[in-house]
Amino acid sequence: MPKGLSTDRGAPGDSRRRNLGALLRRVHLAGPVSRVGLAEWLGVNRSTVMALTAELAAAGLVREVPATSGGRAGRPSFVVRPESEAVHVLAFDIAVDRLVAARVGLGGVMAARLEADRPRAGADLDAVVSVLAGFGRELHRGAPPGSVCVGVGASYCGMIRPGDGMVRFGPDMGWVDQAFGAELARRLDLGLPVLVGNEAHLGAMAEHQRGAGLGVQNLIYLHGDVGVGGGIVVGGDLLDGDGGYGSEVGHMLVNPYRGRPCGCGSRGCLEAEVGERALLDEAGRPADHRGREAVRAVVAAAGAGDAAARQALGRIGDWLGIGVANLINLFNPGVVIFGGTLSEVFPAAAPQVRRRIAANVLPVSRDKARLTVSALGYDATLIGAADLAFSPLLTNPLAAPTHP
Ligand SMILES: [Zn+2]
Repeated sequence: MPKGLSTDRGAPGDSRRRNLGALLRRVHLAGPVSRVGLAEWLGVNRSTVMALTAELAAAGLVREVPATSGGRAGRPSFVVRPESEAVHVLAFDIAVDRLVAARVGLGGVMAARLEADRPRAGADLDAVVSVLAGFGRELHRGAPPGSVCVGVGASYCGMIRPGDGMVRFGPDMGWVDQAFGAELARRLDLGLPVLVGNEAHLGAMAEHQRGAGLGVQNLIYLHGDVGVGGGIVVGGDLLDGDGGYGSEVGHMLVNPYRGRPCGCGSRGCLEAEVGERALLDEAGRPADHRGREAVRAVVAAAGAGDAAARQALGRIGDWLGIGVANLINLFNPGVVIFGGTLSEVFPAAAPQVRRRIAANVLPVSRDKARLTVSALGYDATLIGAADLAFSPLLTNPLAAPTHP
C-alpha cells in the first residue's frame, strides 16, 4: 500500500529526508522500478520523483537507466535501479546449529554467503564471535572495489534487547546477558554498530516485505529451530511489546498439566510440544539424533509409510493446531507462515493442524486465515538481518557512510 510522501512539517529537511527514504525503501524492496511506477506508488507527480531520484543517484545509491522494453514513441521512460554492487551490508544469522554470514547488496541481492556448522553445547560468546568476525572480514575483502558497507545486522535465536544487541536470554545456547552486538562490532572493526534482532521477528518482517506475506498487513510467522520462535505483524508493523521481547508464541502455554518440560524452565509450552525434541522422541529416535537433518528424516519416513513417524507428526500437528488456533482467534491474521524446520513439518502435519482450526477457530477468522510455508526458506532470518542493517540508510539516505 503506498505510504505517500511527506509534506513539510516540523524541522526543514525532515520531509525531504523522509521522502528520499520512502523512495529508496521502495527500490530496495521491489528492485528496479520505473519512474512512472514510483510516482504512482508514492502518489506524486513525475517531476517530484525525478528530483528525488536525481538526489539519490548523486549520492551513489541508485542509477537511472532507459527502459529497454516497450519501444513506444514519445519521451523515453527510465527505470530506477538500486546500486547493488556499490552499496552493501553484512548480515549474520546465529542459529542453534549453524552460523551464516552474507554480503547483501542494496536491493536485497545476496552477493556472497558463508556458513559453518557449530556444536550446540558449550558455545561461548568469544567462540561464536570469532567465527562470525572471520566471515565478516572475508566478505568485506571480497566486496567489489569501492563498494561501501553501510550497515551490519544479525539475527539471533533468543531474546534481544533493542538498541545495543544484548542477548538477554538465549535458552538453547545457555546465554544470559551477553553483549553480543557490541562484541561483534568491536571484532569487525568497521566503525559500524551491529544491529541485532530476534530471528523470528526478522523472519516475520522479511516474509512480510519480500516473501509469503507480501501485501498482507496482518500475519503470523512461526520459525522452527530447536524450539519455535514467533513474529506477529499487525497493521504492517512488528508486534514486539514494551521491551522488545513480545511475540514469544513458542512459550504460549498449551499443555500445563501433563506437558513436556521446556527450555525456558516452564512446562507444556507450545515449543516443548511441537519442537524438535518432541518430534524425535515421539518418533522413537534416539537422544543423539537431532538437528534439521533428523527432523527431515522423520518427515521422509512418514511419507514412506513409517507408522511411528506418522503418529509423531500427527501428535505434533495436533499441538501445533492448538497453538495456531489460539493465534488466529487472537490476531485474525491474513496468513500464517511456517518457517525454519516448521516449513518441513507443517506440510506433513497439515491435516491435524487444519482439523484443530476447523474445530476451534471462530468461523469469521477461520475463513480469512491462509496457511502456508515460508517463501524465503531457511534464509528468511538472514534476509531479515540484512534489511535491519539497511534500516539506518533507508531512514536517512543522505547520511550514509561514504568510505569503503
Ligand atoms: Zn517455554
